[in-house]
Amino acid sequence: MSHVVIIGCGVVGATIAYELSKVKGLEITVVDRQPPALASTGAALGVLMGIISQKTKGKAWQMRQNSIQRYETLIPELETITGRKILFNRQGIIMLLPEPSTSCSEGDAGILQWEKLQEIRESQGFSLEIWDKAKLKQICPQVDNDKIVGAVYSRCDRQVDPTALTLALVDAAQHHGVSFKFGVQVLGIEPHPLPPPLSRGGDTEPHSLSPSHERGGGAEKYCYQLETTEGKIAADWFVVAAGLGSSLLTAQLQQMIDIRPVLGQALHLRLGYSLGNPDFQPVITGDDVHIVPVGAGDYWIGATVEFPSNKDEIPPNKELLESVRQQAIAFCPDLAKATTIRTWSGLRPRPEGRPAPVIGKLPGYNNILLATGHYRNGVLLAPATADAIREMIVHNDF
Ligand SMILES: Cc1cc2nc3c(=O)[nH]c(=O)nc-3n(C[C@H](O)[C@H](O)[C@H](O)COP(=O)(O)OP(=O)(O)OC[C@H]3O[C@@H](n4cnc5c(N)ncnc54)[C@H](O)[C@@H]3O)c2cc1C
Repeated sequence: MSHVVIIGCGVVGATIAYELSKVKGLEITVVDRQPPALASTGAALGVLMGIISQKTKGKAWQMRQNSIQRYETLIPELETITGRKILFNRQGIIMLLPEPSTSCSEGDAGILQWEKLQEIRESQGFSLEIWDKAKLKQICPQVDNDKIVGAVYSRCDRQVDPTALTLALVDAAQHHGVSFKFGVQVLGIEPHPLPPPLSRGGDTEPHSLSPSHERGGGAEKYCYQLETTEGKIAADWFVVAAGLGSSLLTAQLQQMIDIRPVLGQALHLRLGYSLGNPDFQPVITGDDVHIVPVGAGDYWIGATVEFPSNKDEIPPNKELLESVRQQAIAFCPDLAKATTIRTWSGLRPRPEGRPAPVIGKLPGYNNILLATGHYRNGVLLAPATADAIREMIVHNDF
């Protein structure tokens, strides 16, 4: 048995745990200093903007495509294993298109860009519809704003409740034998100058799912245990899925992956009835504000994007949250009648000076894998991230 320890049980760590739990020959432990889905994941809106994103090639597109496709099977799979219901909106995403702000040519370029994307997506097997104002009005009468000239409808994109998803992933992984240690903080990962012990669990040969020691020509270090608030945990692989906690853990290994916080605030509004057609409740998004139906006339609205002003401190700005609410009302005026049930905020883990997310081997280390820094798309990219980590462990494919 190869032992994999995953540090962090947000949506990323939980998805990795579940996907790895289906691989024979792995023992898996997940460690988190708090209960699951309480950090960034607990604040997320769960909007999965894959097909409607402007990414069309390379890894960025591949990951979006993989994730969107995996979600279609993942949700029913988890519901069957756990008996839990996961809110998963299959009605797609509508992106509102504003009128050209400065000149006609800019607006035309906007539409041209969408038409180009539509063509690419068609060739990739996905549908994007471009609606004019009249069609938008007919299908979504709740949108009433003079400055909106039309919309792009992506029927293949989705939205999922990130907390319900993460709890179901934990539950399903537990069904498959994964052990979870909540309330246990990882204090450090201990490197070892010597080759790894081969005799754990009676093995005398390196297991096929163990890290390859030839890789790196011996120059790379090997870690063999975690130090935690509840003692040491030995393992063959360490997966750092600790979001904002990843910086400190990697800094201790002299390979700091700098992950900084970006605050997001959101609101839960209760209208008591559905906006527009009750049978067609897609996510509506415009000007970076999402209106997310969550059932029975309730909507999540968000989110702000707030950068630290002083070191890593970001005091939530009430005015920014109010401007998000006002923007949602400007799109769908009926929302002015809604009551605010709850407001919340969370910190997105954003990698500094490099693109999100950070997935791969920690430089200089043979058996530490990074699955972190997902910034604004951790829920979207969790399945593709888990897939990449599984490939690294099963096929030593970095
Ligand atoms: C307001 C808001 C809206 C968002 N909306 C969306 C959206 O619509 N779609 C989307 O895809 N994404 C969205 N995101 C982004 C998304 O939430 C994140 O990208 C995602 O949750 C990151 O998941 P994670 O598992 O990497 O991190 P987290 O959820 O932050 O989990 C990391 C875990 O690691 C644990 N940990 C850290 N250090 C240690 C340690 N030393 N020892 C033990 N445990 C440790 C923490 O306790 C935590 O549980 C949003 C974020 C916010 C804030």
